[in-house]
Amino acid sequence: MATCPQGHASGSDDYCDVCGTQMAAAPPTSNAASNPAPVAEPAAESCPICQTPRAGQFCEVCGHDYSSAGSAAQRGHPTLHPEQGSASGQGNGAPVPLLATGGGARWEAVTAADRSYYEKVIAEGGPDADAVAFPPYCPERSFGLYGDQVRIGRRSRARNLEPEIDLTGPPEDPGVSHLHAVLLAQPDGSWMLVDPGSSNGTQVNGKPLKVNVPVKIAPGDRIHVGAWTVITIREGTP
Ligand SMILES: [Zn+2]
Ligand SMILES: [Zn+2]
Repeated sequence: MATCPQGHASGSDDYCDVCGTQMAAAPPTSNAASNPAPVAEPAAESCPICQTPRAGQFCEVCGHDYSSAGSAAQRGHPTLHPEQGSASGQGNGAPVPLLATGGGARWEAVTAADRSYYEKVIAEGGPDADAVAFPPYCPERSFGLYGDQVRIGRRSRARNLEPEIDLTGPPEDPGVSHLHAVLLAQPDGSWMLVDPGSSNGTQVNGKPLKVNVPVKIAPGDRIHVGAWTVITIREGTP
């Protein structure tokens, strides 16, 4: 766990998970000064799945868990990547079918601010509780769920990360990680949600998710992330 110049606890030690500040910008009083210039970093490890440079235990882009590197693919790790099957040759059985939305109802995720959740977070002394204010105005935004994964987070230019459900705002919820959670399309047209290790966690209908354990999502479910963000899943009209 690194601490950013703003004092956030961050899972990554290059850029802060919470505010995106570069860690190397820490004041010289900190003992992080023993770190050599970031430019001279040796060939950084990159994700075996999506080739993104490593930035912590979990891949910022696909959620790959480095601590189980090498064994995850063979052991039937949650299917984040449809190409995973072809990588291991014939694999075991059917390839993951591409999700065809034709015919079925269109699912959508609607983001908004939830005051009662925010008050609970503050009461529990949650992420940066004293520093985060409830937004005076937060328009509802709707995101259609397409493709085989839909990432929830805040975009990061430094990491070339643009989540499909981008909570950058304004208003911005600073408790949301750059890659906070991922919706995974299922062959039957439904969706599962996985938190690949966000700083402050994810709740579905008030229940915290376990890291890297996907749960089924149904229309009407409410996903809470950060200090005040609620994402409601709806089955809209096609
Ligand atoms: Zn920070
Ligand atoms: Zn990856």
